[in-house]
Amino acid sequence: MFMRKTAYHKSAIVIGSGFAGLSSAICLAAEGYEVTIIEKNSQTGGRARMLEISGFRFDMGPSWYWMPEVIQQFFKRFGRPLDDYFHLQRLDPSYQVIFGRDDAVSIPADYAALKKLFESIEPGSGARLDTFLQEARYKYEHGMQHFVRKPGQSITEFMDRKLLSSLFRMDMLTSFHKHVRKYFSHPRLLQILEFPVLFLGAAPDRIPALYSMMNYADMQLGTWYPLGGMHRLVSGMTTLALEMGVEILTDTEVFKLNVQHKKIKQVHTTRGCFSADVVVAAADYHHVDQQLLPPEYSSYSARYWETRKMAPSCLLYYVGVNKKLPRLQHHNLFFENSFSDHAACIYHTRSWPENPLYYVCCPSKTDRTVAPPGMENLFFLIPTAPGLADNATIRSYYFDMLIERTAAFCGEDFAENIVFRQSYAHNNFVADYHAFKGNAYGLANTLDQTALLKPSIRSKRVQNLFFAGQLTVPGPGVPPAIISGQLVADYIIKHYKGKMDESVI
Ligand SMILES: Cc1cc2nc3c(=O)[nH]c(=O)nc-3n(C[C@H](O)[C@H](O)[C@H](O)COP(=O)(O)OP(=O)(O)OC[C@H]3O[C@@H](n4cnc5c(N)ncnc54)[C@H](O)[C@@H]3O)c2cc1C
Repeated sequence: MFMRKTAYHKSAIVIGSGFAGLSSAICLAAEGYEVTIIEKNSQTGGRARMLEISGFRFDMGPSWYWMPEVIQQFFKRFGRPLDDYFHLQRLDPSYQVIFGRDDAVSIPADYAALKKLFESIEPGSGARLDTFLQEARYKYEHGMQHFVRKPGQSITEFMDRKLLSSLFRMDMLTSFHKHVRKYFSHPRLLQILEFPVLFLGAAPDRIPALYSMMNYADMQLGTWYPLGGMHRLVSGMTTLALEMGVEILTDTEVFKLNVQHKKIKQVHTTRGCFSADVVVAAADYHHVDQQLLPPEYSSYSARYWETRKMAPSCLLYYVGVNKKLPRLQHHNLFFENSFSDHAACIYHTRSWPENPLYYVCCPSKTDRTVAPPGMENLFFLIPTAPGLADNATIRSYYFDMLIERTAAFCGEDFAENIVFRQSYAHNNFVADYHAFKGNAYGLANTLDQTALLKPSIRSKRVQNLFFAGQLTVPGPGVPPAIISGQLVADYIIKHYKGKMDESVI
């Protein structure tokens, strides 16, 4: 058995090397913990892994870099400037929204230009955008300061006068759908403003208006890109972890947690048995709770998990094209069809959408290193309900549809120019990440699954087991996953401060 504990150091095992696992490992190592990350896949990064093939480098998961200050603050916490690891570029336009064959709107990075655009679509909406975003800014700043960074262990965390007095302005009880319509009525503006919440796990009429904070992140803080690809953030955090002395074991899967006297005694892996003072489960929460722990030590029942609302899954294609497609921007939202029909397929009927909305990322517009010269690197994404039947026929059907629709917009057929294609969907999420129902984005951010109402960062039955990642607080997305790792590490550090003697080990 491998022991990470010594007579002088506290030790931790982190299961999973996604953003949450890397973040918690770095924070614990910085406090003197001896940390081992155990990762089943051969690369770190989890859902943000990279696929490198035939001269293309595809980011397999996240492609929108929002809330840059969260990531900057993370590196700053360890005295590291972000520039030591990668260079960020603000995208302009931030993205384009495609409403039809010859009908696309580019969202400019410059705020004055954005207001002008709104005004041209709906007279009077430019001034209303000011008010809408002022409110959104308040929610973002207060949310980040007072809500998002709470471990969600006790209601007393929220019993702060300042925080309670801000609740009304945080718009927890109004729906996002209703809130946006107080300011805007043109269907295009509504679609532009509602798109960021599509991935949160419910239709806009079920998402609290609090999440207009995402419009602030989008329209004021901007859309950024780490040169080299989103994976540069993974490699930056992996390098930082190694610099902090974290040991990272890839190609090593945890298959059982052995609990004795309410503590994890051994972590059984495909490379043998490990033990440590604390274990941070940063793999999918459901998998650890229901499949790795003995049933009597699960914090939640199978019924609890069955009744959770999951955020969407998605159908993805990584595609290499041996010519340039000038009409595409870096981020392209194909919104020619009804937003509410697609949302209904994800959240109500739980079926494959007939006329899907979809997203195409073309990072080769910004970055020459992600595709061979003269070629494009394309990433297609259709958000879908989790738990759908996924098979080759379905994948092939949607692939043809997406290529045809994209070609129609581009004004040129490129089916014959495809030199690489690979699909990825529910079955891959399950096989690669043990994702519950093949989810891509974790647990939905609905009001009844917020803060204290999310699965807890602390096991209810095992004293030295903690959870991080997109199924616990604060929720899905790259910045929240990083914050989740920090929250858990800080909780452990505080919890064990001065207590780490033989009685707790
Ligand atoms: C296609 C897609 C697009 C996205 N786009 C964006 C975006 O543009 N912007 C954004 O902010 N967010 C985006 N997200 C969300 C974001 O990527 C995730 O919220 C975040 O990466 C989750 O990080 P995590 O650490 O919680 O989980 P994961 O990244 O899933 O990490 C968990 C890790 O645990 C490992 N693991 C699982 N079981 C075991 C086991 N038994 N033993 C050992 N290891 C195990 C897994 O292999 C994995 O590496 C996207 C997600 C997807 C899937």
